[in-house]
Amino acid sequence: MVDDLIHKKPDQAAQANMPDYSKETEVFSWAKARGLLGGLADGKLNIAHECVDRHVANGAGAKVALRIIRKNDDITEVTYDALFNLTNRFANVLQSLGLAKGERVFSLLGRTPQLYVVALGTLKAGLVFSPLFSAFGPEPLQARMEIGGARVLVTTNALYRRKVAPIRDRLPELQHVLLIDAEDDGDALLDFDALLQLASTEYNIEATEPEDVALLHFTSGTTGRPKGAVHVHEAIVAHCYTGRVALDLKPDDVYWCTADPGWVTGTSYGIIAPLAIGVTMVIDEAEFDIARWYRILESERVSVWYTAPTAIRMLMAAGAEAAKNCNLSQLRFMASVGEPLNPEAVLWSAATFGKPFHDNWWQTETGGIMIANYASMDVKPGSMGRPLPGIVAGIVERENGKLHHIDKAMCVGELALKTPWPSMMRAYLDEEERYNKCFSDGWYLTGDLAMRDSDGYFWFIGRSDDVIKSSGHLIGPFEVESALIEHEAVAEAAVIGLPDETAGEVVKAYVALNPGFRPDKDLQRSLRGHARQRLGPAVAPREILFREKLPKTRSGKIMRRLLKAREMGLPEGDISTLETDEK
Ligand code: ATP
Ligand code: MG
Repeated sequence: MVDDLIHKKPDQAAQANMPDYSKETEVFSWAKARGLLGGLADGKLNIAHECVDRHVANGAGAKVALRIIRKNDDITEVTYDALFNLTNRFANVLQSLGLAKGERVFSLLGRTPQLYVVALGTLKAGLVFSPLFSAFGPEPLQARMEIGGARVLVTTNALYRRKVAPIRDRLPELQHVLLIDAEDDGDALLDFDALLQLASTEYNIEATEPEDVALLHFTSGTTGRPKGAVHVHEAIVAHCYTGRVALDLKPDDVYWCTADPGWVTGTSYGIIAPLAIGVTMVIDEAEFDIARWYRILESERVSVWYTAPTAIRMLMAAGAEAAKNCNLSQLRFMASVGEPLNPEAVLWSAATFGKPFHDNWWQTETGGIMIANYASMDVKPGSMGRPLPGIVAGIVERENGKLHHIDKAMCVGELALKTPWPSMMRAYLDEEERYNKCFSDGWYLTGDLAMRDSDGYFWFIGRSDDVIKSSGHLIGPFEVESALIEHEAVAEAAVIGLPDETAGEVVKAYVALNPGFRPDKDLQRSLRGHARQRLGPAVAPREILFREKLPKTRSGKIMRRLLKAREMGLPEGDISTLETDEK
């Protein structure tokens, strides 16, 4: 475990939205967090009202809400006023299609301006928004729209023809398809822009109950078949609060969340939290590109940046020079989510940017950030941080249907969260049994293994399915991977356990190299020596293989289960979320 604490100075802490974690934890209540929002009359709550209408009513309508950098570098700006009108128009369009409350509107879009109109207009109309990932092929799209009972789909001409047309007749419930770039060719497809133009900008926002369903998000499918997690309007209480304390967002910030809109981060922190706080969001329509990213950070004067370990590791592999050549003086807070953030990456960012990435942990099911490294708190590189005020996290073991709580520091068990909290999923769509299995004794069981240190920081060990048991040791792949990427040659690593007659399981590692390193015997020897020295012979990988790339989900998570299945000649299982060039 890394001991290099990254200290925060008292004046840094004083400027944070949450200057003192312990004090905040003492005085926190969800009712108080709800007070950060406006709310509708009679205790009703609607996410879109909080994200858009409230700011317009408060006189902030002229402020830029979205600044979208198009693929060709053109800029499209949308003010809160414009977003108000556009989302009203779209809510009217949906109403005119005769949809009933709670029906589902899917989007299959990149980071285009229309995406935000669709998401928020759907919520205004009291319907359920479900984003799909635009790189999915027809099969995964069909599966998700089927599970979700999609009534409406908003997409582009090209995506429709390539991916939806082949499965359209298998989706009888899908009544309306709206194209944002429709061509007048007589198809039974609707023209999004034309409908929007005809619709009125006046709309009485649906007075939804806090418990009305708002969002349907599919999990990443890292461990198996993706699940459809159902979230309600009340979730915004957690979105807004975590945006304030875990991302330290303030209304004056220029905020950039790099997540794709097809995943939960793209909605919770790519739409809802930042708009609820009233920031200006920078949105890049294009795909990851190192030079482009640094250019955006500099020219857009991004102040808060939320990204993922897979991107950070790519920036590291490209070297610190590129970062040091830009003026990033506006950048004041950087956070990461999605996978464990190796201590090496935190230390690298502190050395390169003069401030560290703040790791935080959450899941599709938790709807929002649950454990985080906060702006006012010392960062322990490699740790996910401490539970959000209002969240009680524990380390538990399941024993014959009962929960046994492990209170001792640095003992591994399953990470559990005391229920409820506002953004907790309310169901896995049509999978009640699977849902019920996640709860026991008033706790939600996350399926991740972790430990807590004596300061209350949590350390990720691995997904319970990925953890390796070797000669009586419990080995977390993250620990081994982090040690490997400390080696100058290694860009990324994935570690699995393989069955072994004597040890139970043995550790095997796959590594992708940084540019300029040759995958030869000498390097293999050097890596094995490094791992043994860092981890000891019992934990160090028995075998280290070189790979050009590691198999990842489209949301950037390493799929260890796939490496293992391939290694053992077992069925690959659901690989609908695997990156295409890996198949
Ligand atoms: P599925 O549940 O379908 O297998 P998934 O768990 O990858 O997919 P998500 O909900 O997108 O789907 O991801 C949540 C998981 O990602 C967490 O349970 C955890 O394993 C991992 N994760 C997220 N953030 C972190 C983090 N900061 N550190 C370590 N792991 C993280
Ligand atoms: Mg999961």
